[in-house]
Amino acid sequence: MATYLVTATFGHFQVKTGRTKDGIPIITAVDPREAKDANPALAKLPKMIAFEEKIFGPYPFDTVGAIVDDAPQVGYALETQTKPVFDGAPDDSLLLHELAHQWYGDSVALTARLGGNLYAERVVVEGSQQTKAMGFWSLRLGLSFYFGGGR
Ligand SMILES: [Zn+2]
Repeated sequence: MATYLVTATFGHFQVKTGRTKDGIPIITAVDPREAKDANPALAKLPKMIAFEEKIFGPYPFDTVGAIVDDAPQVGYALETQTKPVFDGAPDDSLLLHELAHQWYGDSVALTARLGGNLYAERVVVEGSQQTKAMGFWSLRLGLSFYFGGGR
């Protein structure tokens, strides 16, 4: 594991547990001040993992989740391994992005990682606006673009 993917968190958190459809344990820790805003996106985490498994393959770790802090001074979210950390409540797009990093962490070039994550967000947006067939073709074209030498 790359050192920047390691995290330890201390504080007062609301901890919830669950499982993905494949039985992978989900653990989320949310600062109570961010819970109301964070819970809508976090409730979609199992569906996001299932969606990203369709694109990227089986989830690569034994557990998944998120840490949502109330730390706006930090100014960013980070894809720490199995528990991405957020400086405030993430929206759907940001949560999906940091979860996509779980597949594209330390073994794939940075540009490919970021491209894959941006692509995952785009598929979700387009998936809600296009037919299934269009989504399938944009998925195929998008993957070849991003992983075939795109930006
Ligand atoms: Zn990222």
